[in-house]
Amino acid sequence: MEFVDLRAQYAALKDEIDDAIQRVLDHGRFIMGPEVSELEKRLAEYVGVRHCITCANGTDALLLPLMAWGVGPGDAVFVPTFTFFATAEVVSLVGATPVFVDIDARTFNLDPDQLESAIQRIENSGELVPKVVIPVDLFGLPADYSGIEAIARRHNLLVLEDGAQGFGGSCHGQKACSFGHAATTSFFPAKPLGCYGDGGAILTNDDELASSLRSLRVHGQGTSKYDNVRIGLNSRLDTIQAAILLPKLRAFEEYELDRREWLAQTYSNALSGSVNTPSVPDGYRSSWAQYSVLASSSEERTRMQEALKSAGVPTMVYYVKPLHLQSAYRDLGYAEGDMPIAEDVCRRIFSLPMHPYLAPSAVDEIATVLRSAKTG
Ligand SMILES: *Cc1c(COP(=O)(O)O)cnc(C)c1O
Repeated sequence: MEFVDLRAQYAALKDEIDDAIQRVLDHGRFIMGPEVSELEKRLAEYVGVRHCITCANGTDALLLPLMAWGVGPGDAVFVPTFTFFATAEVVSLVGATPVFVDIDARTFNLDPDQLESAIQRIENSGELVPKVVIPVDLFGLPADYSGIEAIARRHNLLVLEDGAQGFGGSCHGQKACSFGHAATTSFFPAKPLGCYGDGGAILTNDDELASSLRSLRVHGQGTSKYDNVRIGLNSRLDTIQAAILLPKLRAFEEYELDRREWLAQTYSNALSGSVNTPSVPDGYRSSWAQYSVLASSSEERTRMQEALKSAGVPTMVYYVKPLHLQSAYRDLGYAEGDMPIAEDVCRRIFSLPMHPYLAPSAVDEIATVLRSAKTG
C-alpha cells in the first residue's frame, strides 16, 4: 500500500499528461509558456479571485508576498507552531521575527484566542511591530478565517493564507486559497493538487500586489527584461509543470476531491472508537491533504504505527516537533510547555494513507489493525 499513490494517478491520466508534456516539447517555450498563463487563469477561476501568480514552489509563494509588503527586521509575523517549517522559515528569510501561536485542539489550526493574546503581548513589550499573520490550512482544513480576519482588522495586520495543503477546501462556500490579503498554495507532488516536481502559486484580489509579485518572481523586472526595479527572485513555475497540472486540475475538480472526501468519511466511520478522528466544523470542507488521527498516548501511537507497518500499511507523523521547539529557533527563547496543545498533539498524532485512488478495502484493513492494536 502507498501513502500517496502517484503512480495510480498517472496510470489514470497517462494519455492526457503525456500529450501535455509532448506539446511543450514541441513548442519549446519552457519558461513562461502558454500553459503557465492558462493554468493561472484556471486556478484563479476555481478559487474565485482575480489574480493567480504561479512560482517555483510553495515556500517562495509565501516569501514573495512578504517581500512585496516590505516585511523585514523589527516586524512580528504570527505563525501557528504546528505546521511545516516553511511557514516560519520565510519570515526569518526576510529578517522579520516569527511569533509562534498555539493551535485549537480539535482542528489543529491556529487558535484565534491565542493569536489575540500573542498580539497583545507583542504590542505591550513594544520591541516588535505586529505586521502579518500566516494562518495555515493544516491537513486541508481551512483555518478559522472569520475569527482571524476580525482580529487582524482590529490590529491592522495583513493576513497571508498558507494554503499549501488547503487547495480544494472551503468555508461556508468560500474556497481555500482565497482568504486574507493573499493566499498561497504548493504543487509539491504529494499535495492535494501536485505536479511532477516543485511548484507553487499566490492568489489575491489585490491588483497592485499582483503586479509586484509578477515583477518579483522575475528578478524584480520592470517594463522590459533587462529593466530591474526591485530586488526579486528567479521563481517561475516551469511550463512543463503547468502543462502537467492542467489535466490534474480537471481530474481534481471532476472526481479526485470528492473521492478524498468520501474516503475520509469512510475512515471516520470505521475508526471511531479506536482513535480520535479528525473533526470538520460545520460549514467547512477539507481537501484532506492528510487524514490525521490521535492515539490516546505516545506509547499507543507507537504500537499502532508498528502494527500497521507489519500489515504493510505506511504511516507518517506530521509533525514530530512544534516549530517553537525547533533548534533553528532556539534563540527565540521558547521552552517546552509554552504551547501545550501543539506539544501534546505532536506526541499522539499520526497520518494514514490518503489519496483518491485508495481502495475502500484498505480502509477496512486499517480499521481492523487499529482495533486490535487499541486493545493491545
Ligand atoms: C508543503 C508546505 C509548504 C511548502 O511548500 P513547498 O512547495 O514544499 O515549498 C508550506 N507550508 C505548508 C503548510 C506546507 O505543507
